[in-house]
Amino acid sequence: MKKVSEHVYLLDTHALGFQEFVAAYLIVGDKSSAIVDIGYASSLPKVLEELSGVGLKPIDIDYIIPTHLHLDHAGATSYFIENSKKSIVLCHPRAVKHFLDPSKLNASVREIYGDFASFFGLAEPVPIENIRSVQDYERIDLGGVSLRFLYAPGHAPHQIVVYVEEDEALITGDAVSIETPSFPLRVPTTPPPSYNYIEAVETLNKLSKLKSRIILRPHFGVKAWSPEYFKEEFTLLEKWKKDVEETMKEQANMDDAVRNLINKYVGDYKFQLSNMPIYLYVTIKISCLGMMKYLEDQR
Ligand SMILES: [Zn+2]
Repeated sequence: MKKVSEHVYLLDTHALGFQEFVAAYLIVGDKSSAIVDIGYASSLPKVLEELSGVGLKPIDIDYIIPTHLHLDHAGATSYFIENSKKSIVLCHPRAVKHFLDPSKLNASVREIYGDFASFFGLAEPVPIENIRSVQDYERIDLGGVSLRFLYAPGHAPHQIVVYVEEDEALITGDAVSIETPSFPLRVPTTPPPSYNYIEAVETLNKLSKLKSRIILRPHFGVKAWSPEYFKEEFTLLEKWKKDVEETMKEQANMDDAVRNLINKYVGDYKFQLSNMPIYLYVTIKISCLGMMKYLEDQR
């Protein structure tokens, strides 16, 4: 666990055994503590181990705040609550029914990821008394530090981001691109089934106006806030959309299309595709599928 600002710690969940791919963020106040994103069900033991390393038990965590339902952010939620009993899940109103009954979510994950999904661990229902939805711009006080929730649709319709006010730190969820330290490649996360480009751009616009000191990304880590960062995000997203659109026209075979597309980005960074961690390859493939689906739905 690494301290990244006065009240915030970065916790590497070691997703599927990979380091520095999926982060959770722990916020410790004088009165209460919260974890934003909790990782895959299969990485919960690592999360609990990291908490115990700083003397915290699940019962010490008052709030679990999954930025959205995707299993790398929310998969461990119910299992964590089984341990803590009292933690409250704070989420977007549209996410509530899926926490209560994750069967549709699990089916969609199986459909999108195929065999790869077996490494994630599926979501289990969260008891209704442990869930509370939040309003756009709602604020909660943890004692000496407060969290502001902002609706951030696009990557998923039910996404929220969390602004840690006193630390001027913005925990982004997947509203921004992936940029992993082990393989320096920056690609937007645009997955099926409900990626929406227009909403994603509006969300970037909303976040770019929220002046922060640091940006805390789930995939992965800390970045200094700057107006340029958001300009780059707009450019990157637009380029990604255009590249996916062109690749769709050129390639009949889906796997070839994905490979060619990734090669374009890998080429930019002078890295070899064969060196790319499988987890990252799958993530980008999913982003490609999501953007393709969005473009097809627009026709
Ligand atoms: Zn996601």
